[in-house]
Amino acid sequence: MNTTLFVSDLHLCPTRPAINQAFFDFLRGPAAQAQAVYILGDLFESWAGDDDDDPFNGSILQALRSLSSTGVTLYLMHGNRDFLIGQRFSADSGATLLPDPTLLDLYGTPTLLMHGDTLCTDDIGYQEFRKKVRDPRYQQQFLAQPLVNRKQIIAGLQTENVEKKQLKSDAIMDVTPATVEAVLREYRYPRLIHGHTHRPAVHKHIVDGRVCERWVLADWYTTGSYLASDATGLKNVELPVAGGTRV
Ligand code: MN
Repeated sequence: MNTTLFVSDLHLCPTRPAINQAFFDFLRGPAAQAQAVYILGDLFESWAGDDDDDPFNGSILQALRSLSSTGVTLYLMHGNRDFLIGQRFSADSGATLLPDPTLLDLYGTPTLLMHGDTLCTDDIGYQEFRKKVRDPRYQQQFLAQPLVNRKQIIAGLQTENVEKKQLKSDAIMDVTPATVEAVLREYRYPRLIHGHTHRPAVHKHIVDGRVCERWVLADWYTTGSYLASDATGLKNVELPVAGGTRV
């Protein structure tokens, strides 16, 4: 079927089995019927390196490979949680790693794909952290450490982040409108699809007199969902999750 699906911010981890099951069902169901599936970052809650052969990671990798091996084109963009996903995971899962941002022609509509964290420029502390950890030299040094040490560092950062988030205002945690406008202008007024903020919505931005839609994908904390695109447009689809509740 000529459909393209988008998901982001699944934050998969072993402690949310109902969500993991919803993801497996999604891959075997709607994803298997699609032409292409784009995962726009934060597929995993954390990623310490492709050499982490934790069975949970293996089960996700296997499910992705089952999808890509049937001919569905699978794309993966890094999120702020799983930006250390590398060539090995990409090759083994059959997912093509996409740069952030990526501009594509989606059934005739220019569409810009992003994870979304680079739009949150009011969060200066985060942007500084991002600059540091996205430096290839930093990543090389980090990945050269034993896996157990890397996992410890990541766990420490996550605790620190929870504390920091409690001190940050809602506005700081969302995208910065001026940054969104600058990106839309730079890419010649496309439609924008991103995740990261966990604030699903469709926004309209008027930039230089041009109307640009911004579709924000939902996270998979309590329910699963995806954005389906075909020649008729975009629509958000909710997935059943066992025991799932809306918050
Ligand atoms: Mn994110």
